[in-house]
Formats: sequence, C-alpha cells, structure tokens
Amino acid sequence: ASSADPYDVVVIGGGPGGYVAAIKAGQLGLKTACIESRGALGGTCLNVGCIPSKAMLNNSHLYHQAAHDFKSRGIDVKDVSVNLAQMLKAKDKAVTGLTKGVEGLLKKNKVDYLKGFGSFAGPTTVNVKLNDGGETQVEAKNIIIATGSEVTPFPGIEIDEEQIVSSTGALELKKVPEKMIVIGGGVIGLEMGSVWSRLGAKVEVVEFLGAIGGAGMDGEVSKSFQKLLEKQGLKFSLGKKVLDAEKRDGKVYLNVEDAKSGKKEQIDADVVLVAIGRRPVTEGLNLEAIGVEKDNKGRIVVDDQYNTTCKGVKCIGDATFGPMLAHKAEEEGIAAVEIIKHGHGHVNYGAIPAVVYTHPEVAWVGKTAEDLKNEGVEFNVGSFPYIANSRGKTNGDTDGFVKFLVEKQTDKVLGVHIIGPNAGEQIASAVLAIEYSASAEDIARTCHAHPTLSEAFKEAAMAAYDKPIHF
Ligand code: FAD
Ligand code: NAD
Repeated sequence: ASSADPYDVVVIGGGPGGYVAAIKAGQLGLKTACIESRGALGGTCLNVGCIPSKAMLNNSHLYHQAAHDFKSRGIDVKDVSVNLAQMLKAKDKAVTGLTKGVEGLLKKNKVDYLKGFGSFAGPTTVNVKLNDGGETQVEAKNIIIATGSEVTPFPGIEIDEEQIVSSTGALELKKVPEKMIVIGGGVIGLEMGSVWSRLGAKVEVVEFLGAIGGAGMDGEVSKSFQKLLEKQGLKFSLGKKVLDAEKRDGKVYLNVEDAKSGKKEQIDADVVLVAIGRRPVTEGLNLEAIGVEKDNKGRIVVDDQYNTTCKGVKCIGDATFGPMLAHKAEEEGIAAVEIIKHGHGHVNYGAIPAVVYTHPEVAWVGKTAEDLKNEGVEFNVGSFPYIANSRGKTNGDTDGFVKFLVEKQTDKVLGVHIIGPNAGEQIASAVLAIEYSASAEDIARTCHAHPTLSEAFKEAAMAAYDKPIHF
C-alpha cells in the first residue's frame, strides 16, 4: 500500500478503547492510524484516571499502614511522615512509563500516531488539527470513534482544579487539605476520598442517594463497605443534595439540602471534589455533518456491531453505551476491529467485572441479589467471611466476605460480590466462572492452594450449594 492509499482503519482517540483497537488492527494487517490530541496516549485511564489513582491508592495505603498498623505487627518505625511531592512524583513516573510504552506498542504494530484533534469532514474523511500547528486530512474505509468521557460539570459549581477539583485536580493537590468534601459517593469519590483521608484529611462524602458505591454494587456489600470506610474515618452524609458552592476566605461553603425533608444546611471545606459522574466527549467531532446520532445522555448510538448511524463509522468505549470502564473499552476495541476484519466479534456484557480499589477492595461481576429479585429468578446465596480464612488471619486483613449468587435449580453462577483483601484480583476467577457457565459445585470441587485468600472464594462456592468447611 502506498501512503496515498486510504487507511483501512482510523481511530479517533488514543485511550484504552482507541489504542487497543489500533494495535489489534495493526496486528491483523490493517493499515491503521490513531489520532490523539492530548499529547500522550492512554486516554483518561493512563493519564488522569485508573493509573495515577491506583498509584496514589497504593502508596497512601502503605503510608497509612506504616503510621497506624505496623506497631501491632511488631514493626516499630519512627517518624513516619508523608512526602507528598515524592508521592506525586512516583505516580507521575508510573503514568509516563505506561504512556510511553503504549507509544512503543503503536510503533511496533505499524500504527501511525497522529498528534492532533480529529473532526469529520465526511463519512470517510477526518480533518486533523495538528498539535504542532497546521492541519492534515486522512481518508479511511473504517473510522472508529473512541473519544471517551469527561467529568460531568456541576451546574453552578465551577471547577478551578485547586479548591474545587475534579478527579484530575484531586490527583495533583500540592498539600493535604485539612477538610475535604466529596460530592458523590460513587467510585471516584470513594477512591480519592480514601487517598486523602489516609494522608490525613478529614473527608466527608455527600451523596444524593441512600447508599454508596454507585450503580451495580450489591446492597449488602454497599452497607458493609460504608461501615468499614467509616471505621477508617470517612464521614458520610447520605440522602443529601448539594445545591451550590461559594468560595470565601480561602474556604468553600456548600449549601446542602436533605433529599427527604428539604432541610437546608451549610458545610465548609478547604477542598471540594466534584465526582458526580462522567459524560461522553463528542464536541468538535462534527457528527451532525455525517448523521451520527446521540441519545439523551449524549452517548453515541450504536448497534450490536458498534455501527453508528453513519455507515463505516463505529463507536466504542466511554463515548457510547455501557459501563465507563477501561477494560470494557478495550474489549470493545478488539471486537470492533475483528468485526471490520472478519465480520464477527463479541463482548460478553454479562461478564464485565467492576472493582473499587479502596481497602478493602470491592469487586463484582454479574447480577446483584436486587437484580435477580426484580427478574423473578430463584437463587441461592453462599457467603464466606475473611475472618474465617487462614490467610486473612495471618495477614491481619480479615474485613469482608465473598458472596455467590447461584441459580436455585442448577447452582450455575449468576453473580459474585466480594468485599475484602485483593478482591480485584480474585474477581477474575468469578468472571471465568460466568464466562464458562460454571456451577458453584465446579468451583467448590476445584483445589485452591492453602493458605490463600482464594480459599474464601472456594468456600463461598461450597456454601452456595452445600456447606463450607471452615464456617
Ligand atoms: P478515554 O480514556 O477517555 O480516551 C479518549 C481519548 O480521546 C482522550 O485521550 C482524548 O484526549 C481523546 N480525544 C477526544 N476527542 C478527540 C478528538 N476529537 N481528536 C483526537 N483525540 C480526541 N476504569 C477502570 O476500568 N478502572 C479504573 O480503575 C478506573 N479508574 C478511574 C479513575 C478515574 C479518576 C477516572 C476519571 C476514570 C477511571 N476509570 C477507570 C474509567 C476509565 O478511565 C475509562 O472508562 C476509560 O479511560 C475509557 O476509555 P476510552 O478509550 O473510551 O476513553
Ligand atoms: P459514579 O456514577 O460512580 O458516582 C457518582 C455519584 O454521585 C452517584 O452515586 C450519584 O448518586 C452521586 N451524585 C450525583 N449528583 C449528585 C449531587 N448533586 N449531590 C450528591 N451526589 C450526587 O461516578 P464517578 O464516581 O464520578 O465515576 C465516573 C466514572 O468513572 C464511573 O462510570 C466509573 O465507572 C469510572 N471509574 C471507575 C473506577 C474503577 O473502575 N475503579 C474508578 C474511578 C472511576
């Protein structure tokens, strides 16, 4: 193919959806380009999302353990303190290492990386406003929109990323605030709230709903999660609606209304984190010109093959339907490219895990008890607590439990919900179980190493169709 030939695939957006699609296309021998405007690959996830937040979660947890937990374990340390500048540097190092790595992977797979902002000039033509100045135009037989999402703004509360921050600013605070208010008790609020609470801030989470964790979290898990976070010092004001904010004398004052009684109060903090969700990014793409439709939440409408309403243009990741998760975007990136190359590709939306990387972690896959009740499915529940797990005991890390939801007749696994140490790693077994339609008995009869946390998983499966041994 000469350079004047059109591309087989042009991907707009270099996040986990876009860059994975581009690599897969390169691997399948398709002539591919990936357009990204932020100056680094990896999208929200690598630059200001999953990766930097996990670096801060890990290191703040280590600090918290050193300061509050080491003594009881027989480790005497003196003068433990936070060097925030160094902690931020360690986070930045993880980010740069990974974004550069992705650039290397694009090169290795012969994907052209166009640094600039893409917009449609036609159904097969993308204009690229180059970051270094000037413009170029690319032609493509297939275009994949993978432009991701951005913070949902709070009407009337302006984010300055210093005093009133989004998750991006919350990953960059130059000093530990004395008091932080988090608006929204979803995943971002709980993860970033945990980080700053461990580092010494008084953190209060104001959540509109009556429970924390956002959509999809099992009710029993959510209650237990809230109690554990409260034990760590986080304060929760549930059923409270934030109305507006006012900056005065170096502080932020929030007017808050009780969702039921309508009673108003004012609370103040040094830093406010707005974490009320994210919305698709489609501005500037010129979608109107090519007839790509969006729904009432601004998501690009696609069919089950990721086709938008414009032929030859697909959309994946946060910019379209489904949970806003990096691994979901990646799966869709691969499926979309396989559909382009082979005519078929598939994502099992019933087997997409969700993880909250607090301590303990919370992870789940499949249906919640609430879902199954609503659907009228008869099911059994099998639970096992980490307090009865030998490795939990040796590690002094015994909070939480594993909960299996299985079909009553067949004990087929329908959902698994874990709150506990390493829940995010353990959930992979549950995803496999659902993917392969395993029964609880299949798992219970599978040998798990001793002493490991995974035995709690096995015993919860035992509890779902028979009895556990150790509880
Ligand atoms: P994005 O990652 O948003 O990437 C889209 C890219 O497209 C961006 O880089 C943008 O600059 C670029 N772009 C947009 N428009 C154009 C254009 N016109 N031209 C060129 N480029 C354009 N998910 C998890 O699974 N696990 C986690 O632990 C996790 N933690 C998170 C923590 C935080 C603080 C946040 C904010 C998010 C987190 N997420 C997590 C969500 C995850 O980041 C997203 O689901 C994921 O990044 C979506 O991938 P994407 O490729 O669809 O979009
Ligand atoms: P979210 O949807 O998880 O939670 C937002 C919360 O804010 C909800 O509980 C909602 O009820 C509450 N809320 C909304 N308006 C409010 C108001 N006016 N006052 C008080 N509360 C209000 O959104 P998020 O936490 O911002 O995260 C955004 C996305 O990023 C999510 O889709 C999530 O999947 C993704 N993410 C994932 C991870 C992870 O996988 N570990 C981590 C961070 C972010």
